[in-house]
Amino acid sequence: MTGFDSHCHLDFLDQAGSFMAGAQLSGIGHWLLPGTGPEQWQQAHRQFGDDKRVLLAAGHHPWFLPDGPADTQRLENWLARHNDGVALGEIGLDFSRHRPGTAAAAHQFDWFVAQLAIASERKLPVIIHSVKAHDRILQGLKQTPSVIGVIHGFVGPYAQAMAYVDRGFCLGAGRVIFQSSKTLDAFSRIPADRILVETDAPDQRVPDQYRSTLTPAEQKGSDNPLLDWSATLARLADARQLDPTSLMAQVRRNAAALFGT
Ligand SMILES: [Zn+2]
Repeated sequence: MTGFDSHCHLDFLDQAGSFMAGAQLSGIGHWLLPGTGPEQWQQAHRQFGDDKRVLLAAGHHPWFLPDGPADTQRLENWLARHNDGVALGEIGLDFSRHRPGTAAAAHQFDWFVAQLAIASERKLPVIIHSVKAHDRILQGLKQTPSVIGVIHGFVGPYAQAMAYVDRGFCLGAGRVIFQSSKTLDAFSRIPADRILVETDAPDQRVPDQYRSTLTPAEQKGSDNPLLDWSATLARLADARQLDPTSLMAQVRRNAAALFGT
């Protein structure tokens, strides 16, 4: 059983190949590479389309939405021509005020529900980016009740996590579990079969002090952002009083169940 990194922007890493080889030595075997927009879908497909270790997804990320009405034609065309995508995403809403250039809330919402409709039609799980937007995300999901997926890099308390769990979703644990005690608490209590673990490389890094949970071999390569996966898994296993190996196997099963891989 190998580790499954459920959210990793491999195509934004300079040395993806050597980082992946290093991570494989630590038992990480698969990466799910989310889509951000049409040019990126093509580039990721060219770079990783033949790599069995990498799973691809396509979607319009809320940071990179085209202007104008939500027109999903390019996404539909892409999905019709490429059947190697295991999910639709990443899609979602980002209402953080710190990010200049992000589209207006209503524009983001239109694109979000339009893409959910395609996921519903094609029976694809979705990868959701939700920043300060959980209520609106849940509201959007009401329109497509059969769609399930993962809330990537989930941040929030247990009750919020359970609202997604009750809606059929998995939650992706990332760097935030090191910084937000309410989020770590949520991940230590939700059902085990709803947990995924992700690096979100290269955006998120595990704080340095937690690198001590890595084995000496892993620490040597700790400039490798893909190894943050092992530190995150170890932190979560500790919070759930589980052996990391059994949590790794559980996470792998969860990914297989959601993405059919
Ligand atoms: Zn992402």
